[in-house]
Amino acid sequence: MASEETFMRAPAPSPKRTIYTEAMEIFHYAADLIGLDKRVRLELEEPDYEHIFYVTAKLKDRLVPLLPEEAKSFSDLSVTQVRNPEGLERLANGNIILNGRALLGSDVAIRHGHLRLPDGLVYQLVPGESQRFKAYRVQHNQARGPYKGGLRYHREVSLDLFKALAAEMTWKTAIAEVPFGGGKGGIQMDPREYGREEIEAITLRFMYRLKSLIGPNIDIPAPDVGTNPEIMALLYRQFSDGERERHNLRGIVTGKDVRIGGSEGRGKATGQGVAFCIEDYYADRGESVKGKTFVLQGFGNVGSHAAIILGNMGARLLAVNDADGSIFNGDGIDVNALAAYVADPKNLKRSVIGFPGAQRIEKKDLWDVQADILVPAALGGEITADVAERLKVKLIAEGANGPTTPEADRVLQKRGIELIPDIIANAGGVTVSYYEWIQNKRMERWSEAEVDQRLERAMKRNYRIIRDISRNQPRKTEMHDSRPYCIGKAVDSRCAAMILALKRIEAHYLLEGFSQ
Ligand code: NAD
Repeated sequence: MASEETFMRAPAPSPKRTIYTEAMEIFHYAADLIGLDKRVRLELEEPDYEHIFYVTAKLKDRLVPLLPEEAKSFSDLSVTQVRNPEGLERLANGNIILNGRALLGSDVAIRHGHLRLPDGLVYQLVPGESQRFKAYRVQHNQARGPYKGGLRYHREVSLDLFKALAAEMTWKTAIAEVPFGGGKGGIQMDPREYGREEIEAITLRFMYRLKSLIGPNIDIPAPDVGTNPEIMALLYRQFSDGERERHNLRGIVTGKDVRIGGSEGRGKATGQGVAFCIEDYYADRGESVKGKTFVLQGFGNVGSHAAIILGNMGARLLAVNDADGSIFNGDGIDVNALAAYVADPKNLKRSVIGFPGAQRIEKKDLWDVQADILVPAALGGEITADVAERLKVKLIAEGANGPTTPEADRVLQKRGIELIPDIIANAGGVTVSYYEWIQNKRMERWSEAEVDQRLERAMKRNYRIIRDISRNQPRKTEMHDSRPYCIGKAVDSRCAAMILALKRIEAHYLLEGFSQ
């Protein structure tokens, strides 16, 4: 048995470092700097609610291709001619979903549950089974308004990640000056492994469980990685199904298709906001985006729109990377052609790989490409300290949420690489989500020009306040007033953004007090 002395000497366990604690480092740093009210700090340190629940769905029958080695024993199996090829839904992972009666009326040659299709491959017929999925909704803070934040369908999600992303939304909605708090959630699944009708069934069941936790004035989801306007439409239908005032519930989700109450300009809004920030960054230095070069990580909603808009401003895209690999063209990649290539239904993986207008490079080589700007628009934690040491860019505009680790932040500062932090750079999405929500409430429809104009003012006004806080340059102009936010000394841009968020949130607690 350990003596009392050895017991006394045992080191205290150091708190476990997680995605959440890492993400909160900047919160604590900024809170210390401004002397954030102690109780406000406790309120913001952890989410209001953390919901974990499960949804089940019945999957469809599918055909799973055999590896060439395994297929050898079926070499004499004749080809099944499929009468109804529309019933076969090909997935990005090579599996095929059998929709309806796909094989009905076909000449099916089946042996031990295997058949050969006209593509020459042998497939195993796997009967559809029920599956359980883990689902989450974290509601971080609602001091400034209803919880607001996206839904992510991705294999690598966790409570810890959603806590970090929900807190980010609290900061972002305050920075964007929209009357919301922060939330985030989603389902642990790879949507590319499921058919259209399966995604529908999973999504409907998800909303069936979520319904008692959210509402158009309580918590308003939106698209994030792996979700899109089609999924928002299903969520709206399920939430409003059978309700007497369905039309009043349209604001339950944002990021809807414009034909069913979505806002003009919402699809591109996050990428547009990234581009507005970059434009303002250069305008402030008396320069222009025209002629600048950029590198992009992620070519989904945020990345593709940011690339197209920066391209229209005269910048040149040199390299792109997505989940499947990287491509490069030193003369510049034709962004519109790349977007059309990725959107082509034949491109099952929706990947940039194979695009004829560029050469393939290793993923890690992306970080060595010399350019003016890097726009990370994929997942979090991608810019590590090692990557930060290698980068050959002058500016990083964070389209993704949390792409840079705290260690990498320190390296970037040391190397003098400038940063437009995520909570302002990608705030365009939630800003136009707010416009969509108002339009739904008022039963109005704004034009794209009106949305873009409002978004440009909102993004640039708040980004200028952040720049002023960073430089400790309190001033009032026609467009913005940074005097209440500067703290008497210069700070880095990520800290400046957090200071703006915390001061705006703190005001609610200090003026409204705490409910008992
Ligand atoms: P998306 O699903 O449309 O696209 C994600 C892209 O990232 C795809 O091109 C995918 O191939 C790529 N990707 C995935 N894993 C990768 C990996 N390991 N390496 C490289 N690339 C990888 O998602 P999105 O809506 O464009 O979101 C991208 C980022 O922007 C996320 O961090 C999201 O939280 C953030 N964001 C999105 C919005 C929005 O309105 N959609 C708003 C604010 C922030």
